[in-house]
Amino acid sequence: MMRSQSRGKNHAAQASRLQHQLSPSVSTEKVEDNQETEACLIDLGTAEGSEKRLNHNSPLSFASSNEYVSGVKIPPPQPSPAESRRIFLDNLRVVEGVALTNTIDDSSPRLDFKFIKKNVLGTGVEEATDEFMIGCTCRKNNGRDIGCEYTSCECLEDSARTNEGRKVFPYAAGKDTTHCLRDFYLSHGWHVFECNARCNCNSNCKNRVVQHGRKVPLEIFKTRNRGWGLRCKVDLKRGQFIDTYRGEIITSEEADRRGKERDADADNYFFGFDMWEESKGYVCDGMFMGGPSRFINHSCEPNCRIITASYNHADVNIYDLAFFATEPIPAMTELTFDYGEDIGDDRDEGEDDLEQSRKITAEKAKEMEKERGYRPARCLCGTRSCRGYFFT
Ligand SMILES: [Zn+2]
Ligand SMILES: [Zn+2]
Ligand SMILES: [Zn+2]
Repeated sequence: MMRSQSRGKNHAAQASRLQHQLSPSVSTEKVEDNQETEACLIDLGTAEGSEKRLNHNSPLSFASSNEYVSGVKIPPPQPSPAESRRIFLDNLRVVEGVALTNTIDDSSPRLDFKFIKKNVLGTGVEEATDEFMIGCTCRKNNGRDIGCEYTSCECLEDSARTNEGRKVFPYAAGKDTTHCLRDFYLSHGWHVFECNARCNCNSNCKNRVVQHGRKVPLEIFKTRNRGWGLRCKVDLKRGQFIDTYRGEIITSEEADRRGKERDADADNYFFGFDMWEESKGYVCDGMFMGGPSRFINHSCEPNCRIITASYNHADVNIYDLAFFATEPIPAMTELTFDYGEDIGDDRDEGEDDLEQSRKITAEKAKEMEKERGYRPARCLCGTRSCRGYFFT
Protein backbone atom coordinates (compact mmCIF):
# COMPACT_ATOMS: atom_id res chain seq x y z
CA MET A 1 0.00 0.00 0.00
CA MET A 2 2.73 2.45 0.73
CA ARG A 3 5.14 3.40 -1.85
CA SER A 4 8.47 1.70 -1.42
CA GLN A 5 8.24 3.04 1.97
CA SER A 6 10.85 5.27 3.25
CA ARG A 7 13.58 3.26 1.85
CA GLY A 8 15.10 5.19 -0.93
CA LYS A 9 16.68 8.48 -1.32
CA ASN A 10 13.75 9.56 -3.39
CA HIS A 11 11.48 9.04 -0.55
CA ALA A 12 13.54 11.20 1.71
CA ALA A 13 13.65 13.88 -0.87
CA GLN A 14 9.97 13.65 -1.35
CA ALA A 15 9.09 13.70 2.25
CA SER A 16 10.89 16.88 2.81
CA ARG A 17 10.07 18.55 -0.39
CA LEU A 18 7.88 21.54 -0.26
CA GLN A 19 5.56 21.94 -3.09
CA HIS A 20 6.52 25.49 -3.42
CA GLN A 21 7.93 27.51 -0.72
CA LEU A 22 7.18 26.57 2.76
CA SER A 23 8.24 29.31 5.00
CA PRO A 24 8.31 32.93 4.26
CA SER A 25 11.11 34.79 5.33
CA VAL A 26 13.32 34.23 2.77
CA SER A 27 13.63 37.34 1.49
CA THR A 28 14.04 38.94 -1.56
CA GLU A 29 15.00 42.51 -1.28
CA LYS A 30 11.49 43.69 -0.90
CA VAL A 31 11.74 43.83 2.80
CA GLU A 32 9.26 46.12 4.17
CA ASP A 33 9.03 48.82 6.51
CA ASN A 34 5.51 48.93 7.71
CA GLN A 35 3.45 46.60 9.80
CA GLU A 36 2.29 44.63 6.78
CA THR A 37 5.68 43.15 6.82
CA GLU A 38 6.21 39.68 7.51
CA ALA A 39 8.78 37.11 7.70
CA CYS A 40 8.05 36.83 4.20
CA LEU A 41 9.98 39.04 2.33
CA ILE A 42 8.15 38.64 -0.71
CA ASP A 43 5.38 41.04 -1.26
CA LEU A 44 2.21 39.17 -0.66
CA GLY A 45 0.02 41.71 -2.25
CA THR A 46 -1.89 44.61 -0.95
CA ALA A 47 -4.04 44.36 2.09
CA GLU A 48 -6.97 44.47 -0.20
CA GLY A 49 -5.71 41.60 -2.26
CA SER A 50 -5.03 39.46 0.75
CA GLU A 51 -8.41 40.12 2.06
CA LYS A 52 -10.12 38.79 -0.96
CA ARG A 53 -8.41 35.52 -0.35
CA LEU A 54 -9.20 35.46 3.28
CA ASN A 55 -12.34 33.72 4.20
CA HIS A 56 -11.38 33.14 7.77
CA ASN A 57 -12.16 35.28 10.67
CA SER A 58 -9.41 37.67 10.19
CA PRO A 59 -8.59 39.70 13.24
CA LEU A 60 -8.24 42.55 10.85
CA SER A 61 -11.92 42.91 10.23
CA PHE A 62 -11.80 46.65 10.53
CA ALA A 63 -9.56 46.86 7.54
CA SER A 64 -12.00 45.10 5.32
CA SER A 65 -14.01 48.12 4.47
CA ASN A 66 -12.46 49.66 1.45
CA GLU A 67 -14.78 52.41 0.52
CA TYR A 68 -15.07 54.48 -2.55
CA VAL A 69 -15.96 58.09 -2.15
CA SER A 70 -16.75 59.78 -5.41
CA GLY A 71 -14.56 57.34 -7.23
CA VAL A 72 -11.59 57.84 -4.99
CA LYS A 73 -10.41 54.80 -3.19
CA ILE A 74 -9.72 55.41 0.47
CA PRO A 75 -7.11 53.06 1.81
CA PRO A 76 -8.26 51.03 4.79
CA PRO A 77 -7.26 52.44 8.15
CA GLN A 78 -4.01 50.91 9.36
CA PRO A 79 -3.80 50.13 13.02
CA SER A 80 -1.02 51.90 14.87
CA PRO A 81 2.14 49.91 15.67
CA ALA A 82 0.99 49.53 19.26
CA GLU A 83 -2.46 48.39 18.18
CA SER A 84 -0.98 45.96 15.65
CA ARG A 85 1.18 44.46 18.34
CA ARG A 86 -1.77 44.11 20.68
CA ILE A 87 -3.84 42.36 18.00
CA PHE A 88 -0.99 40.04 17.07
CA LEU A 89 -0.25 39.12 20.68
CA ASP A 90 -3.90 38.44 21.28
CA ASN A 91 -3.91 36.00 18.39
CA LEU A 92 -0.57 34.50 19.48
CA ARG A 93 -2.08 33.54 22.80
CA VAL A 94 -3.81 30.61 21.08
CA VAL A 95 -0.48 28.80 21.05
CA GLU A 96 0.96 28.88 24.53
CA GLY A 97 4.58 29.63 25.26
CA VAL A 98 5.43 31.71 22.22
CA ALA A 99 6.76 35.25 22.64
CA LEU A 100 7.17 38.10 20.18
CA THR A 101 10.28 40.29 20.18
CA ASN A 102 11.26 43.13 17.94
CA THR A 103 14.42 45.10 18.69
CA ILE A 104 14.72 46.34 15.11
CA ASP A 105 11.65 48.53 14.65
CA ASP A 106 8.07 48.88 15.84
CA SER A 107 6.43 46.56 13.31
CA SER A 108 4.51 43.38 14.02
CA PRO A 109 3.99 40.34 11.79
CA ARG A 110 1.02 40.48 9.45
CA LEU A 111 -2.33 40.43 11.14
CA ASP A 112 -4.27 38.30 8.69
CA PHE A 113 -2.54 35.18 9.95
CA LYS A 114 -4.36 33.08 12.50
CA PHE A 115 -2.57 30.80 14.98
CA ILE A 116 -4.04 27.34 15.28
CA LYS A 117 -3.23 24.40 17.53
CA LYS A 118 -4.32 21.73 15.09
CA ASN A 119 -4.66 21.45 11.35
CA VAL A 120 -7.95 22.69 10.01
CA LEU A 121 -9.54 20.37 7.45
CA GLY A 122 -10.88 22.11 4.37
CA THR A 123 -13.88 21.20 2.25
CA GLY A 124 -13.63 17.74 0.74
CA VAL A 125 -10.75 16.67 2.96
CA GLU A 126 -11.24 13.54 4.99
CA GLU A 127 -9.15 11.85 7.60
CA ALA A 128 -9.10 8.07 7.83
CA THR A 129 -11.32 7.07 10.72
CA ASP A 130 -10.05 5.36 13.83
CA GLU A 131 -11.72 2.10 12.87
CA PHE A 132 -8.91 1.51 10.44
CA MET A 133 -6.32 2.29 13.04
CA ILE A 134 -4.25 -0.62 14.20
CA GLY A 135 -2.44 -0.58 17.50
CA CYS A 136 0.36 -2.68 18.91
CA THR A 137 -0.03 -5.37 21.54
CA CYS A 138 3.01 -4.40 23.60
CA ARG A 139 2.76 -4.48 27.39
CA LYS A 140 1.92 -1.23 29.08
CA ASN A 141 5.12 -1.24 30.94
CA ASN A 142 7.95 -3.19 29.50
CA GLY A 143 9.81 -3.09 32.74
CA ARG A 144 11.24 0.40 32.60
CA ASP A 145 8.06 2.35 32.14
CA ILE A 146 8.99 3.41 28.69
CA GLY A 147 6.37 1.43 26.84
CA CYS A 148 7.30 0.06 23.48
CA GLU A 149 10.94 -0.76 23.40
CA TYR A 150 11.24 -4.05 21.58
CA THR A 151 11.32 -4.38 17.87
CA SER A 152 8.44 -6.82 18.17
CA CYS A 153 6.21 -3.73 18.51
CA GLU A 154 3.77 -3.89 15.60
CA CYS A 155 3.93 -0.13 15.21
CA LEU A 156 7.41 -0.57 13.79
CA GLU A 157 6.19 -2.91 11.08
CA ASP A 158 6.05 -0.19 8.44
CA SER A 159 9.04 1.72 9.75
CA ALA A 160 12.32 2.27 8.00
CA ARG A 161 14.82 -0.56 8.25
CA THR A 162 18.54 -0.83 8.05
CA ASN A 163 20.17 -2.39 5.02
CA GLU A 164 20.25 -5.61 7.00
CA GLY A 165 16.48 -5.44 7.46
CA ARG A 166 16.65 -4.57 11.13
CA LYS A 167 13.84 -2.44 12.55
CA VAL A 168 14.93 0.68 14.36
CA PHE A 169 13.03 2.61 16.99
CA PRO A 170 12.65 6.23 15.99
CA TYR A 171 13.33 7.69 19.40
CA ALA A 172 16.18 7.19 21.80
CA ALA A 173 15.56 6.45 25.44
CA GLY A 174 18.92 7.17 27.03
CA LYS A 175 19.12 9.35 30.08
CA ASP A 176 20.12 12.46 28.17
CA THR A 177 18.53 11.62 24.88
CA THR A 178 15.00 10.65 25.85
CA HIS A 179 12.58 11.44 23.07
CA CYS A 180 15.34 12.56 20.73
CA LEU A 181 15.01 11.28 17.18
CA ARG A 182 17.72 8.77 16.38
CA ASP A 183 20.37 9.56 13.82
CA PHE A 184 19.10 6.83 11.57
CA TYR A 185 15.88 8.78 11.07
CA LEU A 186 17.29 12.26 11.36
CA SER A 187 19.95 11.90 8.73
CA HIS A 188 17.84 9.98 6.21
CA GLY A 189 14.57 11.75 6.80
CA TRP A 190 12.66 8.49 7.28
CA HIS A 191 8.99 8.66 8.08
CA VAL A 192 8.07 7.90 11.70
CA PHE A 193 5.09 5.79 12.80
CA GLU A 194 4.26 6.60 16.37
CA CYS A 195 2.02 4.56 18.68
CA ASN A 196 -1.62 5.54 18.76
CA ALA A 197 -4.91 5.38 20.66
CA ARG A 198 -5.39 1.73 19.74
CA CYS A 199 -2.01 0.66 21.08
CA ASN A 200 -1.77 -1.32 24.25
CA CYS A 201 1.02 0.88 25.60
CA ASN A 202 0.27 4.07 27.50
CA SER A 203 0.97 7.69 26.80
CA ASN A 204 4.46 7.45 28.32
CA CYS A 205 5.50 5.04 25.60
CA LYS A 206 8.77 6.16 24.10
CA ASN A 207 7.30 5.84 20.63
CA ARG A 208 5.12 8.91 21.20
CA VAL A 209 6.71 12.32 20.83
CA VAL A 210 5.28 14.43 18.02
CA GLN A 211 1.74 13.52 19.06
CA HIS A 212 2.27 15.17 22.43
CA GLY A 213 3.02 18.49 20.74
CA ARG A 214 5.57 21.19 21.39
CA LYS A 215 7.24 21.28 24.80
CA VAL A 216 9.74 24.08 24.24
CA PRO A 217 9.19 27.84 24.54
CA LEU A 218 9.65 29.74 21.30
CA GLU A 219 10.08 33.32 20.26
CA ILE A 220 9.10 35.01 17.01
CA PHE A 221 11.62 37.79 16.45
CA LYS A 222 12.49 40.38 13.85
CA THR A 223 15.71 39.53 12.07
CA ARG A 224 18.06 42.12 10.67
CA ASN A 225 17.52 41.33 7.01
CA ARG A 226 15.15 38.41 6.66
CA GLY A 227 11.87 39.57 8.03
CA TRP A 228 10.59 37.56 10.98
CA GLY A 229 12.31 34.48 12.29
CA LEU A 230 11.86 31.92 15.02
CA ARG A 231 14.14 30.84 17.85
CA CYS A 232 13.88 28.65 20.90
CA LYS A 233 14.36 30.09 24.36
CA VAL A 234 16.08 26.98 25.70
CA ASP A 235 18.94 24.83 24.44
CA LEU A 236 17.88 22.09 22.03
CA LYS A 237 19.57 18.73 21.67
CA ARG A 238 20.30 17.10 18.35
CA GLY A 239 17.17 15.15 17.46
CA GLN A 240 14.88 17.12 19.75
CA PHE A 241 11.35 17.73 18.52
CA ILE A 242 10.39 21.39 18.25
CA ASP A 243 6.92 21.77 16.76
CA THR A 244 4.83 20.75 13.79
CA TYR A 245 4.08 22.75 10.67
CA ARG A 246 0.34 23.28 10.53
CA GLY A 247 -2.26 24.89 8.36
CA GLU A 248 -5.40 24.25 6.44
CA ILE A 249 -5.44 20.86 4.77
CA ILE A 250 -6.97 21.38 1.34
CA THR A 251 -7.53 19.29 -1.76
CA SER A 252 -5.07 19.49 -4.64
CA GLU A 253 -7.74 21.22 -6.72
CA GLU A 254 -8.18 23.88 -4.10
CA ALA A 255 -4.41 24.27 -3.86
CA ASP A 256 -4.24 24.81 -7.62
CA ARG A 257 -6.95 27.42 -7.37
CA ARG A 258 -5.21 29.25 -4.54
CA GLY A 259 -1.87 28.99 -6.26
CA LYS A 260 -3.24 30.72 -9.33
CA GLU A 261 -4.87 33.42 -7.27
CA ARG A 262 -1.69 34.26 -5.47
CA ASP A 263 1.03 36.41 -6.81
CA ALA A 264 3.53 34.26 -8.65
CA ASP A 265 6.28 35.83 -6.59
CA ALA A 266 4.60 35.29 -3.27
CA ASP A 267 5.83 32.65 -0.91
CA ASN A 268 3.14 30.20 -0.74
CA TYR A 269 3.44 28.06 2.29
CA PHE A 270 2.19 24.92 0.56
CA PHE A 271 3.38 21.54 1.69
CA GLY A 272 2.09 18.62 -0.31
CA PHE A 273 1.15 15.31 1.27
CA ASP A 274 2.45 13.29 -1.62
CA MET A 275 4.66 10.81 0.11
CA TRP A 276 2.62 7.81 -0.89
CA GLU A 277 1.52 7.04 -4.40
CA GLU A 278 -2.06 6.25 -3.52
CA SER A 279 -2.55 9.43 -1.55
CA LYS A 280 -5.13 11.95 -2.65
CA GLY A 281 -2.52 14.67 -2.85
CA TYR A 282 -3.84 16.94 -0.14
CA VAL A 283 -1.87 20.07 0.57
CA CYS A 284 -1.16 21.85 3.84
CA ASP A 285 -1.55 25.61 3.34
CA GLY A 286 0.05 27.60 6.14
CA MET A 287 -0.42 31.02 4.62
CA PHE A 288 -3.34 32.23 6.70
CA MET A 289 -3.40 29.69 9.49
CA GLY A 290 -0.64 27.81 11.20
CA GLY A 291 1.71 27.53 14.12
CA PRO A 292 4.83 29.47 15.07
CA SER A 293 6.92 27.17 12.85
CA ARG A 294 5.57 29.15 9.92
CA PHE A 295 8.15 31.78 10.86
CA ILE A 296 11.13 29.47 10.43
CA ASN A 297 13.42 30.85 7.75
CA HIS A 298 15.28 29.04 5.07
CA SER A 299 19.01 28.45 5.31
CA CYS A 300 21.40 26.59 3.06
CA GLU A 301 23.06 25.35 6.27
CA PRO A 302 19.99 24.66 8.37
CA ASN A 303 19.84 23.49 11.97
CA CYS A 304 16.42 21.84 11.68
CA ARG A 305 14.78 19.31 9.46
CA ILE A 306 11.19 18.32 8.78
CA ILE A 307 10.40 14.71 9.56
CA THR A 308 6.99 13.28 8.71
CA ALA A 309 5.15 11.32 11.37
CA SER A 310 1.87 9.45 11.47
CA TYR A 311 -0.20 7.43 13.92
CA ASN A 312 -2.81 5.74 11.79
CA HIS A 313 -0.97 3.43 9.41
CA ALA A 314 -4.05 3.35 7.18
CA ASP A 315 -4.05 7.07 6.51
CA VAL A 316 -1.82 7.85 3.57
CA ASN A 317 -3.35 11.29 3.07
CA ILE A 318 -2.58 13.23 6.21
CA TYR A 319 0.39 13.07 8.54
CA ASP A 320 2.33 15.42 10.75
CA LEU A 321 5.19 17.60 9.50
CA ALA A 322 7.53 17.82 12.45
CA PHE A 323 10.57 20.04 12.91
CA PHE A 324 13.53 18.41 14.66
CA ALA A 325 16.88 19.96 15.59
CA THR A 326 19.64 18.41 13.48
CA GLU A 327 22.39 19.67 15.77
CA PRO A 328 22.61 20.98 19.32
CA ILE A 329 21.10 24.47 19.13
CA PRO A 330 21.96 26.96 21.88
CA ALA A 331 19.05 28.97 23.27
CA MET A 332 18.09 32.06 21.23
CA THR A 333 19.76 30.83 18.04
CA GLU A 334 17.61 31.31 14.95
CA LEU A 335 15.96 28.09 13.80
CA THR A 336 16.29 27.37 10.10
CA PHE A 337 15.62 24.61 7.65
CA ASP A 338 16.35 24.03 4.00
CA TYR A 339 13.19 24.36 2.06
CA GLY A 340 14.76 24.33 -1.29
CA GLU A 341 15.01 21.09 -3.09
CA ASP A 342 16.54 18.22 -1.30
CA ILE A 343 19.25 17.76 -3.87
CA GLY A 344 20.84 14.70 -2.41
CA ASP A 345 22.07 14.48 1.10
CA ASP A 346 24.80 11.97 0.76
CA ARG A 347 27.94 13.82 0.03
CA ASP A 348 30.16 10.81 -0.36
CA GLU A 349 30.99 11.64 -3.92
CA GLY A 350 33.05 14.61 -2.94
CA GLU A 351 31.60 17.31 -0.78
CA ASP A 352 33.08 20.18 -2.69
CA ASP A 353 31.71 19.10 -6.01
CA LEU A 354 28.28 18.67 -4.60
CA GLU A 355 28.38 22.05 -2.95
CA GLN A 356 29.38 23.51 -6.25
CA SER A 357 26.68 21.70 -8.18
CA ARG A 358 24.01 22.94 -5.80
CA LYS A 359 24.89 26.57 -6.32
CA ILE A 360 22.36 28.57 -8.27
CA THR A 361 23.90 31.43 -10.17
CA ALA A 362 21.84 34.38 -11.41
CA GLU A 363 22.05 32.87 -14.87
CA LYS A 364 20.92 29.45 -13.77
CA ALA A 365 18.14 31.08 -11.77
CA LYS A 366 16.82 32.76 -14.89
CA GLU A 367 16.85 29.51 -16.81
CA MET A 368 15.04 27.76 -14.04
CA GLU A 369 12.48 30.50 -13.85
CA LYS A 370 11.64 29.96 -17.50
CA GLU A 371 11.29 26.26 -16.91
CA ARG A 372 9.12 26.49 -13.84
CA GLY A 373 7.23 29.66 -14.35
CA TYR A 374 8.10 31.23 -11.08
CA ARG A 375 10.97 33.20 -9.75
CA PRO A 376 13.54 31.93 -7.30
CA ALA A 377 14.08 33.84 -4.12
CA ARG A 378 17.49 35.29 -3.44
CA CYS A 379 18.86 33.60 -0.38
CA LEU A 380 20.08 35.79 2.44
CA CYS A 381 21.09 33.01 4.80
CA GLY A 382 24.69 34.19 4.70
CA THR A 383 26.18 30.75 5.29
CA ARG A 384 29.34 29.50 3.69
CA SER A 385 27.51 27.03 1.49
CA CYS A 386 24.76 29.44 0.47
CA ARG A 387 23.39 28.42 -2.93
CA GLY A 388 22.62 32.02 -3.83
CA TYR A 389 19.01 31.54 -4.79
CA PHE A 390 16.54 28.93 -3.90
CA PHE A 391 13.67 27.36 -5.66
CA THR A 392 11.08 25.48 -3.87
ZN1 LIG B 1 3.82 2.23 22.19
ZN1 LIG C 1 4.23 -1.19 20.79
ZN1 LIG D 1 2.10 1.03 19.30
